[in-house]
Amino acid sequence: KPSARVSDIIPSGKDGWEVHVEATIRKEAGEDIIMLSIGDHDFETPGETVEACVTAVRGGHHHYTHLSGIPRLREAMANISTQSTGVPTTADEIIATPGGQLALYAATQAVLDPGDHAIVVAPYYATYPPTFRAAGADYTVVEAHPQDGFQPRAEDIEKAVRPNTRAILINTPNNPTGAVYTRESLKGLADVCVRHDLWLISDEVYWTLGGGEHLSPRALPGMAERTLVLNSMSKSHGMTGWRIGWLTAPKDLIELLAALNLVTTYGLPDFISRAAAEALENGYGVKEIAERYATRRTVFLDAVRGLNNVTVRGSAGGMYVMLDISAIEPDCEKFAFGLLAAENVAVMPGSSFGEAAAGHVRISLCQPEDILKEAAQRLRRFTSSYS
Ligand code: PLP
Repeated sequence: KPSARVSDIIPSGKDGWEVHVEATIRKEAGEDIIMLSIGDHDFETPGETVEACVTAVRGGHHHYTHLSGIPRLREAMANISTQSTGVPTTADEIIATPGGQLALYAATQAVLDPGDHAIVVAPYYATYPPTFRAAGADYTVVEAHPQDGFQPRAEDIEKAVRPNTRAILINTPNNPTGAVYTRESLKGLADVCVRHDLWLISDEVYWTLGGGEHLSPRALPGMAERTLVLNSMSKSHGMTGWRIGWLTAPKDLIELLAALNLVTTYGLPDFISRAAAEALENGYGVKEIAERYATRRTVFLDAVRGLNNVTVRGSAGGMYVMLDISAIEPDCEKFAFGLLAAENVAVMPGSSFGEAAAGHVRISLCQPEDILKEAAQRLRRFTSSYS
C-alpha cells in the first residue's frame, strides 16, 4: 500500500486541470483549440542560451556538480537577487534548484515541521496547498478580494495567525490574478511577520513581468532575515523546460538545505548550470520577453474591453489576465467547460486557484497577439450567447 505521505499530497485526485486536460486531448486529436490554459511560453528559449548549453555539452561538462549549485551559477543568481530584491545578496545565501517549484519545496521543508501551520494568500498558484501537505503542515487560506484588485489585507492575515503559525506564503506578481502587490500591501504583510515572528516565503518568479520596478518584501525593515525568496528562469528567461530556479534565504538555512539536495536532486546538470549562468550574466531574452507580455496584455485587455458583464481584475503583471465572469455564470468551471465546448477556447477556471478566484477565469497570455484577438472574439460571442 502506498504511504499516506504521497497519497495525501493531492487527496481528492482532482487538481483543477480538468478543462486543460480535455482541451489537450482534443488538440492532440487535431482540433483547432486555442490554448489559454497553461502558463508556458509559445516561443523557444533564446538562441544564445541554447548555444551556451550546446557549447557546455560539447565541452564535456557531463559530471556531478556541487549540491547547492556550481559557484558561477550561485554567484550569478546572487547578483540577480540583489537586483530583484534590492538587498545585497551573496552566493552563500543562494541554493540552485530545478525550477521555482523545487525552491518552494525547499523553502517549506526548511521552515515547517509536520503539524506546523502556515498561511497562504489566495488566489494562489495551484501547487501551493499540495506543497504544504508534502511538508505535513497545516495551512489556512486567506482570500485577497477581487474588489481590492486582489491585494492582500494584512488584518485578514493577522486574524489567521495561530500559536503554531510559522510562515506566510505570497506571490507577486501573482499567478493567477496578475496583481502586483503594492508597497502598502507588502508593508502590512511584513508588519504581521515581524509582530508574530514569522517567516515570509515570497514567490517572485514573475519579477521581470511586473511592468515596472519590482518590489520585494525582503527589502522592508526587519524582513531580510525572515524572508525566503523563490526565483526561476522559467518565465523571465524563457526556460520552463530547463528546470532552473533558486531560493534566496539566510545563510544558515541555505547551508542546511544542501542536505535536502543531497537526498533529492543531488545537484543540477552541469551543462544546464553553465548555460543558465551565462544567460543570467547576460540577461538573454529578459527584456524581449517582458516587452512581449506587456504588449500582449494590452492587446488582450483592449480586445475584451466592453465585454458584457465581464470585469477585468488585477491583471497588472505576470503572464495572465483574470476575468470576473460571475455576473454571467457563478460556476466558473461550468463556464470554462462551456467555452471549450462552444468556442474551442481553453481557459482555467478561477476555482483551481482557491475560493477567492471562483467566479473568474484565468487567461494565459502565452499565445501570439492575433490568436489572443481571435480568442477575445470567441469569448465575446460566447458571453453574449450565454444564458
Ligand atoms: N510559482 C509560480 C507562481 C508559478 O506560476 C510557477 C509556474 O507556473 C512556479 C512557481 C514554478 O515554476 P518553475 O518550477 O517552472 O520555476
